[in-house]
Amino acid sequence: MTDIEIAQQATMERILPLAHEKLGIPEESLIPHGHYKAKVSLDYLETLKDKPDGKLILVTAISPTPAGEGKTTTSVGLTDGLNKIGKKATVCLREPSLGPCFGMKGGAAGGGYAQVVPMEDINLHFTGDFHAIGLANNLLAALVDNHIHHGNALGIDQRKVSWRRVVDMNDRALREITVCLGGAANGFPRTDGFDIVVASEVMAIFCLSTSLDELKERLGNIIVGHTRDNQPVRARALNAHGAMTVLLKDAFQPNIVQTLEGNMAFIHGGPFANIAHGCNSVVATKAALKLSDYVVTEAGFGADLGAEKFIDIKCRKSGLKPDAAVVVATIKALKYHGGAELPTLKEENLEALEKGLVNLEKHVSNVREKFGLPCVVAINHFAFDTDAEIELVKRKMAHLDVKIVLAEHWAKGGEGAEDLARAVVQTIEEVPADFRFIYDDETPLWDKMKQVAREVYGASDIVADTKVRSKIKKLQADYGNYPICVAKTQYSFSTDAKLLGAPKDHVVKIREVRLSAGAEFVVMICGDIMTMPGLPKVPAADRIDIGSDGKVVGLF
Ligand code: ADP
Ligand code: MG
Repeated sequence: MTDIEIAQQATMERILPLAHEKLGIPEESLIPHGHYKAKVSLDYLETLKDKPDGKLILVTAISPTPAGEGKTTTSVGLTDGLNKIGKKATVCLREPSLGPCFGMKGGAAGGGYAQVVPMEDINLHFTGDFHAIGLANNLLAALVDNHIHHGNALGIDQRKVSWRRVVDMNDRALREITVCLGGAANGFPRTDGFDIVVASEVMAIFCLSTSLDELKERLGNIIVGHTRDNQPVRARALNAHGAMTVLLKDAFQPNIVQTLEGNMAFIHGGPFANIAHGCNSVVATKAALKLSDYVVTEAGFGADLGAEKFIDIKCRKSGLKPDAAVVVATIKALKYHGGAELPTLKEENLEALEKGLVNLEKHVSNVREKFGLPCVVAINHFAFDTDAEIELVKRKMAHLDVKIVLAEHWAKGGEGAEDLARAVVQTIEEVPADFRFIYDDETPLWDKMKQVAREVYGASDIVADTKVRSKIKKLQADYGNYPICVAKTQYSFSTDAKLLGAPKDHVVKIREVRLSAGAEFVVMICGDIMTMPGLPKVPAADRIDIGSDGKVVGLF
């Protein structure tokens, strides 16, 4: 059965009584969006602030293959597994981006018997948060061009407007465009472009803010462009931040839905994991921690990117402290790291598997020694994995003294993740976290990048052209205490997607730096980054259809 068929067969419970039963949220504090989705009121969440927090479990992964290794699926499965063994556990995930659903096949609501539902809604319009975020972004863009049109009192240089428009669709035609054509009534022509909504800085700000006041403050700090003498112009100067916050006020309340097994899932916010930090909203994570004993959350990409940003950006800014990490590995990806070709990954290959284990070892050692987190390895079981392969992983990893658990939630739901759940609970109880950041706030930006590259990626050094170095130097003066947000390939510890395994002594080249003054981080771009994806030759849209019975087909 496909993911969508499994999801469509599920009998969902009405969300208001379910959220009350599971988490004790009074029904009047829930704002229903239909029968199966609700938002939780911020006023209610405020009343919980003195309650103790539950345990926070970060789900991360080895360097993936292009198909993904199952972090979302494992996050959902582990949550159901924890509930099966009698723990009150909630999962926190990102909202999927809508555009990519029509491009490559593959949703972002889990898979098999470890999914969140209603999956069609979650993957499409959901509760409208992304539309609100897109509009807030585009309101600011409209205000910039309007300001220039009406006399440009701030002296914005229209060649130096950096704020782009966004839409939640993969549309390469909009990457580079010219706006304000058609005569004097339409403003001053300039080049512009669209990004996908998840790439908007508004999205990153939305996910890092802890209150509406903070949201507004950070939106005001966004730099939209520069004047002729290179002075930054902020959203605040256009008085845009108040109106933007108005557009976001409802979206800012976290969404709650259910897993296939009726456990609670917060799904809120969804920034890119390259030019942003790739985690769900701080508001949702904090809410879940107040309402449950265990909170499982996912960070995008492999642990070198996702876990590092989760810790150095999200935890640093919000005060969150994880208690343990689960590193998701698949036999197929380990074989890939050991040199097996993509089309052969379903065949048993002990030799490649053994060679590829270095990738898992490096991620485990990073999580434990660099981030100071107790760690469990989840082998996300695929039907074609052989017993000999699983045995080999356990045997070869034994010297690390880390729990390696076979997880079968994809095929069996929460029952398949009970062993994993028990291992995680035991690890949290037995191993105290010695959680730490990779760098201090005071470390200069250049050295922050060097520390991440050396310690997390295994690089020997970092390099950059003079132009990039001088930009970093300039940013150091005013923004030197910001964390960095690295954009690089997720497929390798290095900046070369083809360098698999655990490459050592490679050199990381910073190609470009960008300031996100509202999100408060400096993006170090070490590879190609795509902020507006395109559609493939035969997009998923080709297969997506609806029958006269109203049933959707072809979506995953
Ligand atoms: P990630 O969050 O790491 O990107 P996902 O959990 O979204 O990965 O999984 C990626 C894809 O792989 C999904 O389509 C999911 O249904 C599928 N998948 C995950 N685990 C399994 C498994 N054990 N067997 C088969 N398919 C799986
Ligand atoms: Mg995912």
